[in-house]
Amino acid sequence: MKIKALNGFKDIMPDDVLLWRQVEESARIVLERFHFAEIRVPVLEKTELFSRSIGADTDIVEKEMYTFVDKQITMRPEATASLMRAYIEHNMHGRKPVQRLFTIGPMFRHERPQKGRLRQFHQLDVEVLGSASPRLDAELMSLGDCLFSELGVSTSLEINSLGCPDCRPEYRRVLLAFIEERLDQLCEDCRRRSQRNPLRVLDCKKQGCRIQVQDAPSVIDYLCENCSIHFTEVRRNLDLLEVDYTVNKFMVRGLDYYVRTTFEFVTDQLGAQSAVCAGGRYDGLIEMLGGPKVPGIGFAMGIERLVLLLKRLEDHGDQSAGIDVFIAGLGEEAADYSFKLMHGLRGIGLRVDMDLDTRSLKSQMKQADRSGAGYTVIVGSQELDNQQVVLRNMKTGEQTDVNVDAITDFFNETYGL
Ligand code: ATP
Ligand code: MG
Repeated sequence: MKIKALNGFKDIMPDDVLLWRQVEESARIVLERFHFAEIRVPVLEKTELFSRSIGADTDIVEKEMYTFVDKQITMRPEATASLMRAYIEHNMHGRKPVQRLFTIGPMFRHERPQKGRLRQFHQLDVEVLGSASPRLDAELMSLGDCLFSELGVSTSLEINSLGCPDCRPEYRRVLLAFIEERLDQLCEDCRRRSQRNPLRVLDCKKQGCRIQVQDAPSVIDYLCENCSIHFTEVRRNLDLLEVDYTVNKFMVRGLDYYVRTTFEFVTDQLGAQSAVCAGGRYDGLIEMLGGPKVPGIGFAMGIERLVLLLKRLEDHGDQSAGIDVFIAGLGEEAADYSFKLMHGLRGIGLRVDMDLDTRSLKSQMKQADRSGAGYTVIVGSQELDNQQVVLRNMKTGEQTDVNVDAITDFFNETYGL
């Protein structure tokens, strides 16, 4: 019996890895422009870290976490909580008033696998701790925008404000009253959660629930003065940076820790899995996890979905990494020489491969073709006796005899090393 990967867990094959690298490299370039530092945190954390921050009655905590029940530890379903834990644990607020951090890595959620939805998936997670300025909200969204432009994918930005502990209770009351009138039309999850967390109903993905809440009161109409000013300022700053957006008054985001600004970059090209990037402000979170009173905001970008978008852009064909030089040899004596030459050429920075099993020259030339090498060095035992090898330009097919001592120099010059 063949052993297959777990459902919802996927290999990222060599053909796709270059796209992944393109995403990660572009992300690092853009993030450096925005003065971010990379942090790497563990994949396993105490369960409580997530239940406390993400919220007990969220999809994630209720049914999606990979938790080792006997040990009270959980494979991280997201990175924000872990970054906050690290921020508090390492006293990072004492070092710099504003910390700009990012991390890239796998997350784990036990949800129904489908296109763009996996059980192990990857996120670029970006967080800024230490500023409540609405400028920062706009800056982060502009960062997302820059990254999408850098990659050449088009998305649209939707924003909303969820208010704060001052104004949300009033909105909650109004919303709950609205929901209670339609309770019997809602799904089981929504019915169960509505008392404790009526906002969650707005976030339900089920069509039946969506229809029911179409005319629900909007949180935007219940913002307190401070939240209202903050939201206006976020919008003004987005305009200043010429970042396009629309206000989506029903976007509440499925996590408990959000206050004020929430946002999503969405696309119409991925079916139901429309959100490529999502985030928001979480000003009380660090305190709630036992840290100092420090505001924060962040977002997470789903790398699988971004790669799917990139793949739609153009036919990427065979993306496996090419090489500069293939060495084809005849016989064992040539193999020793080739093996050594390969090592030497790699040493000066070239990407080189050869056939370690010394198959026929025909087979080796085929391999050379497929490898995408610019040049093939052909080493025969007879030629070796004369200290000569044949250098084949794979583009033009032109072949020249070259003295073995001149090979390294030739490549040094050709590739400008
Ligand atoms: P969705 O609405 O698609 O369930 P979410 O609100 O649960 O997303 P977040 O927890 O905010 O998503 O994560 C941010 C991003 O991570 C999403 O916008 C998406 O691109 C990606 N993402 C989330 N869950 C998955 C998953 N199971 N598989 C692949 N990507 C995911
Ligand atoms: Mg989800």
